[in-house]
Amino acid sequence: MKTFLRPIAIGIALAGMAGLKAHDLADGEATHGPAPAEGIASRPARLPLRVADAAAERLKLFGRFGPKVRASTNATHWIVESDGMPDHRMMVGITAWQQQVPLPQPYTGDNAWRIPRFPVPAAQPLSAKDHFFRGAIALAVNGVPIFNPIKNDGRTDTFLAGELDEFGGHCGRADDYHYHIAPTHLQERVGPGQPIAVALDGYWIYGFTEPDGAPAGALDAFNGHSTPGLGYHYHATRNYPYLNGGFHGEVVEREGQVDPQPRAEPVRPALPPWRGARITGFERPQSNHFHLEVTTPARTHHLHYHLNTNQTVTFEWSDGSGQSPPETYPLASGNRRGPGRDPAGRPRRRREP
Ligand SMILES: [Zn+2]
Ligand SMILES: [Zn+2]
Repeated sequence: MKTFLRPIAIGIALAGMAGLKAHDLADGEATHGPAPAEGIASRPARLPLRVADAAAERLKLFGRFGPKVRASTNATHWIVESDGMPDHRMMVGITAWQQQVPLPQPYTGDNAWRIPRFPVPAAQPLSAKDHFFRGAIALAVNGVPIFNPIKNDGRTDTFLAGELDEFGGHCGRADDYHYHIAPTHLQERVGPGQPIAVALDGYWIYGFTEPDGAPAGALDAFNGHSTPGLGYHYHATRNYPYLNGGFHGEVVEREGQVDPQPRAEPVRPALPPWRGARITGFERPQSNHFHLEVTTPARTHHLHYHLNTNQTVTFEWSDGSGQSPPETYPLASGNRRGPGRDPAGRPRRRREP
């Protein structure tokens, strides 16, 4: 009996430290509704075990995309490390291209993703229609961030504007690949019934259906609802808002984005949108070698870029008429000390083109 009681005490102490109600310990999906006070008082042995089970289940989801994606927990947060590069083809299908390409990102160490394990409903939920036009609003289980479907001009739907590839992604100002709609293609990777992403408020995002395969019922303005089995959760939809259209849970908004979150740092000068260009091919023949095919009405262009062992990246363009001189840039360093930090020592904010 003693061995059972000890973890309970720890569980309650942690909840207290984090200012959580006992109710919130249940993680939003593993909860099956013990009433807050009574749950702890009368069924003490259950709660910490459920939390542990729920955590193991969730870590397994990220684990499917390991070893590139590494997830762990502390008392309050999911901690997810990745390089932000999915293992599927990228960029193909984009018809409004900002001349950015996918480069690995240093989402590791203190620049890793940190997402609340025990979401707390917000007193004043914030809508993504007029907030969070910068930075991520969710993280896919394959370690790729998901941004607001509306880009930072506050009105352009990136999906409808042709800015996204066949998987709903493209690259930002820092050559950081991210999705702007729910990555429903991950459903078959994680299996039916599993979430495909987690919003940065800590509530999980499921695909088009409930875990039992039934269509998701009525959703609120943020694409969420509560069910007895899962508690509050979001769903993917085929139309706006596509995923969580805001945050049912508490988040901190700072400079127009959820704070804190990892940052991605530009490695080369900004380029203008390339009008009339379509991305028609993408290959990664080696782990450090990428090939992008760009088609314009006049001709086909090829961009080869290489990650070099000295932490630089080299870009080389060619088309039917010749080759441009290679350009080499230092990669964003994974070192969080120095210029990547603002004067307060916090990671600098992510910027979106
Ligand atoms: Zn974007
Ligand atoms: Zn649902």
